[in-house]
Amino acid sequence: MPLIARNITVRYAGMTILDGVTFRAQRGEFIGLIGPSGAGKSTLLYALSGFRPPHEGDLRFDGSPIAEHFDELKSDIGFVPQDDVVHTPLKVQRALGYTADLRLTQMEPAQREARVEEILRSLGIWEQRNLRIGRLSGGQRKRVSIAIELLTQPTMLFADEPTSGLDPSLEDALMRQLRQRADDDNIVVVTTHIMNSLKFFDKLCVLHKGHVVFFGPPDELKPYFDVPDLLDVYRALEGTSPSALKRRFLASPLAHHLKG
Ligand code: ADP
Repeated sequence: MPLIARNITVRYAGMTILDGVTFRAQRGEFIGLIGPSGAGKSTLLYALSGFRPPHEGDLRFDGSPIAEHFDELKSDIGFVPQDDVVHTPLKVQRALGYTADLRLTQMEPAQREARVEEILRSLGIWEQRNLRIGRLSGGQRKRVSIAIELLTQPTMLFADEPTSGLDPSLEDALMRQLRQRADDDNIVVVTTHIMNSLKFFDKLCVLHKGHVVFFGPPDELKPYFDVPDLLDVYRALEGTSPSALKRRFLASPLAHHLKG
């Protein structure tokens, strides 16, 4: 059951932010969106999630157009934005409890409580359960946002910079958890700028000025750009026309990853 996006185009104020982006994800895959700041990563994440439909292009999950079936699919889609949405005076456990009551209506109250506890423990925020969300650190709030989205166990999870504000050990733990979420037969797509985390992904989608200039396994990234270090990839992009880089990628053997 793949998520397939073809020729996604998004424009803001006369500027083309995403220019004919093609993307695909299978269930079981963890995919990282990387690229220089302003490349269009967040915009693509929103478009793929169906929450901000693109101006042009075709977006389907398991063959069904997401825009047309959004109401049915919505409960299967989790989205964690970059900025905190949960900045409330509610306590952590209470906030998750309310969300569980609203969204997990088919469960018994005791099951819902158990589910909330399991998620808070797995994200390392159980000890903060009685703290008000507004008083948490940025990284803890981010994990509360992720916990809320994971409550319903969505088939597709999109997270914008989920590891921002986390120290390296928490970052590693969260990436492992997202990896596990994908391994449990779900699609997980995140934006990141942390090059150390790339090993967790099945595939990377590199965006440059609204174009996909690489899509494939992380191990292929350095050889493809012929650079010794991952950080050099961004340097390789500078000063090169994004549309030329896109054409080069589409002509490369790696392009089959976009064709399935
Ligand atoms: P990234 O996540 O790679 O840093 P974004 O997707 O956030 O990039 O933004 C890509 C470009 O689109 C930026 O130049 C940004 O200023 C512009 N942009 C994003 N959202 C909007 C918006 N709502 N209105 C106008 N421009 C926007």
